[in-house]
Amino acid sequence: MGFVKNFAAIEAGGTKFVCGIGSGPDDLTTAVIPTTTPTETLTRCLDFFRASPHPLAAIGIGSFGPVDLNPASPTWGYITSTPKAGWHNTDLAGTFSRALNIPVGFDTDVNAAALAEARWGAAVGLKNCVYLTVGTGIGGGAVVNGQLLHGLVHPEMGHIRIPHDLALDPFPGVCPFHGDCLEGLASGTAMRGRWGDVAPTLPPDHPAWQLEARYLALAVANFVFTLSPERVILGGGVMQQPHLFPLIHAELAKILNEYVQAPQLLTAIHEYVVPPGLNGRSGLLGSLALAEAALP
Ligand code: ADP
Ligand code: ZN
Repeated sequence: MGFVKNFAAIEAGGTKFVCGIGSGPDDLTTAVIPTTTPTETLTRCLDFFRASPHPLAAIGIGSFGPVDLNPASPTWGYITSTPKAGWHNTDLAGTFSRALNIPVGFDTDVNAAALAEARWGAAVGLKNCVYLTVGTGIGGGAVVNGQLLHGLVHPEMGHIRIPHDLALDPFPGVCPFHGDCLEGLASGTAMRGRWGDVAPTLPPDHPAWQLEARYLALAVANFVFTLSPERVILGGGVMQQPHLFPLIHAELAKILNEYVQAPQLLTAIHEYVVPPGLNGRSGLLGSLALAEAALP
């Protein structure tokens, strides 16, 4: 029998930190810790890891952002310019790595989720996929040629610009930086702003969903044209509406207009834009994969 390595994993979010200990999807022990002050939240996470029954080989963190992912930067592994009170310039990676004295892997929450979906979830066996979460905000991560995409900083796919027909949708958008970017028009926050707090309970035939599907399909088309992913995974609170998927498939087919000659985008488009395969655990399992990758 081989020696099984155990890892620490954190999905660091604006409302909660989900911590996990395990070697993979089948043996993960988790704890949910509310995001209060950095001192309190990080201490409680550390207490959980220190109580681990197994030695921990490395830790991986997938975090809300913006984060510093530049390995040459003195603030690598920090949450940088977040508007979240108290969390500005917080050293996440360094704090855990020093306290536990183990290597640390660090990335955005959505890059982590993309990694996990490619390894264990809806994009198993594919070297190129995009993971988009449509929740309070919109964020995206990408696996490109088997590697997470970083670039200058990290992708901010939620803030891409999409056509906004003001005659059809006069809602100005909710993004504090851009108004009617994708997040401004199509996040859960935008849906609540446009339709009211009843947005999540609107019936499937309400025009809200057709508009939402149109915006998300425009976003997916832009990723098709730029990153050429082999599959696009849509997660987050808003995607808990299963009827959105067929609407998105139909809109995407219209927008692409058979221009890209791949069966995945023609006859099999319903298998191209899909929900996550990991049932709400993409971010945490991705963090575990980041831990594994941090081993020397
Ligand atoms: P977060 O983005 O904060 O991590 P979620 O992914 O759960 O959390 O997204 C929360 C957002 O999703 C809220 O704006 C909420 O209105 C919306 N939402 C949650 N559940 C549903 C649902 N079943 N249908 C549509 N929208 C939903
Ligand atoms: Zn924006």
